[in-house]
Amino acid sequence: MDNPNASNKTSNASPKKPAWGETQTESMPSVPASSSFKDLMSEDLAKDLQERENKDYYDSLVAGESVPSEMLNNIEDTDSDMMLAQMLQYEFDREYDEQVAREEKHVNGVSKVSVSYSKYKVCPEWYGYEWEEEIDEEERDLDSFEARGKIDPLIPACGYVKCGDTIVTKHDLGISGRKNAERIMNLPPGINTGDGGGFDMELSNKVYNKLQSGARAELRRKQRVHDKEEKATSELAIDRNTRLLLFKLVNNEILESINGIVSSGKEAVVVHAMGGVYEENPLPSEVIVKIFKTTLTNFKTRERYIREDYRFKDRFSKHNTQKTIQLWTEKEYHNLRRLVHVGIPCPTPILIKKHVLVMTFIGTNGCAAPKLKEAALSRSDMQKAYNQMKEAMITMFHKCRLIHADLSEYNILWHDGKCWIIDLAQGVEPTHPCGLQFLFRDCLNVIRFFKSKGVPDLPSPLNLFESITGIVLPGNEDDALTMIEQYETHQELWKEGMKNVSDQFELMWNETQFDNKIDIVEEISDDGDEEVKDGEEEYADLEDALLQQRSSRHLTDTVAIGEKVTSVISNSKSRKEVTGKKDEKKKSKKEYKSDSDSGDNENEKSKKGKKKKGSKGGKKANKGTAIPSF
Ligand code: ADP
Ligand code: MG
Repeated sequence: MDNPNASNKTSNASPKKPAWGETQTESMPSVPASSSFKDLMSEDLAKDLQERENKDYYDSLVAGESVPSEMLNNIEDTDSDMMLAQMLQYEFDREYDEQVAREEKHVNGVSKVSVSYSKYKVCPEWYGYEWEEEIDEEERDLDSFEARGKIDPLIPACGYVKCGDTIVTKHDLGISGRKNAERIMNLPPGINTGDGGGFDMELSNKVYNKLQSGARAELRRKQRVHDKEEKATSELAIDRNTRLLLFKLVNNEILESINGIVSSGKEAVVVHAMGGVYEENPLPSEVIVKIFKTTLTNFKTRERYIREDYRFKDRFSKHNTQKTIQLWTEKEYHNLRRLVHVGIPCPTPILIKKHVLVMTFIGTNGCAAPKLKEAALSRSDMQKAYNQMKEAMITMFHKCRLIHADLSEYNILWHDGKCWIIDLAQGVEPTHPCGLQFLFRDCLNVIRFFKSKGVPDLPSPLNLFESITGIVLPGNEDDALTMIEQYETHQELWKEGMKNVSDQFELMWNETQFDNKIDIVEEISDDGDEEVKDGEEEYADLEDALLQQRSSRHLTDTVAIGEKVTSVISNSKSRKEVTGKKDEKKKSKKEYKSDSDSGDNENEKSKKGKKKKGSKGGKKANKGTAIPSF
């Protein structure tokens, strides 16, 4: 606040040149002579003085006697708080007006009808805004388009206009050329046209049309590239969801770490990882994570392997890509299990999560075993490899009831002096409508490879086929495929026979299905009593379903049924054990929850999803499957 005393003192002092360039006595209002100290100290007096000073100051502004801004900036010394306050206020008002003017400009844009914000401005009208340079429209630099726009006649809708003696039509080369030149300035960004406004540019219709169609093509190309990039991400299989899945596997300590990519084929990406702990079982230190691709560009070829496989028939969904890929993953899981069961060297499947399969690693110290194609084998090793493969194919056919369907030197690894069979996703049962044809193809591949490696006394592919299947076909090698096709079409009885054979593997299949259920029940039971009940119902349903399935297949082997029932019961026991461990798990899960953040949310979500599925009868199995030990 201004000090009345100070004002008084100033008024009595010798006139000095104040900041305003006028003598103090002239500019400052006269202060009434104070009669007493009480008057001098009066707040009312101070207020009164302040108001009068304000009034005079604004009057002087309105009257055009304001201080030029450069002078305001030069003020070095003023002992008037009032003056400083006013100056600040003035600056504030000016800035406010500038802002209002900017908004006004923004709102009006290039519109012909403009809205005025002048009533919102605080500073007097006459005060020009320094920031807004007034440009003389006449003197302004015009680009060639604008300049010509002023000269060229405006062509009305009728298409021509009379200019003096001449008639100018809309087809006038100069006018349309300039119009074309102006138009190409509006082509999408990225189409470099240069500054057409810098000179009097004219473009013929032909050139303009070419440029425009070029721009369109470029735009389409860019979109295509974008599509490709997106597709490529999912073709690499490590798309967003897969990354999340892998992240969860690491976060749940199922995997300790994920290392490099071992192979990226057209169907799957194979990644090397370090195993952690799953279901209290320590995983091998090195594991393979096989991620099936989520695009179905080549699904047409895979489809036939699943559709006719009775194990997947009811669950095959042509319309749900994700589901089908999961089935494909399951297929490899179950097929590998069959091989492991009879002791054929192959990776041991550990668990599946959606389209991700974790299995044991074939190799040492992060170095994957070479494919048979690449392995440098001695002659005797090559002979040994052939013998082993022949044995494996026979065992697979008869004991596992499986045909690899993609057996070749690329899907056999050489490790520890043995052939390890991998990549069983497309493996089918011999009852598959094309099963024998697939087997013959496998025989062709195997014989061709070992022949190329100089293994002596090899049978013909047909001979190998016959010794594997026990089927003798009347005819020679050249007609083999046709004969096999015919055989498959007419041997319904044979197929039925194969179906009704009491075998261990159907049981195994069912059991693995059962394992999946257990897995779901267990995860559900973590979430509360109500869900446990759901799980129990589901469990009973499953038991019925399994027994029904057995009887519908006309099994005569009661021992097999007995085994099944026993296995169901033993599983039931293990389930109870699992539920017994519930609290313990719950606790550890809670601990985990408090540690993690985003992954945690995902866990919650997926759990809820599972709950729903579980309560519907748990049709969807295989959210996570584990082998008991390995
Ligand atoms: P794809 O369907 O892409 O052919 P594969 O199962 O054949 O997938 O695996 C591709 C490659 O990954 C194999 O050729 C092999 O080199 C490697 N690989 C796959 N599984 C394993 C494994 N369990 N251990 C070591 N290497 C493996
Ligand atoms: Mg392969």
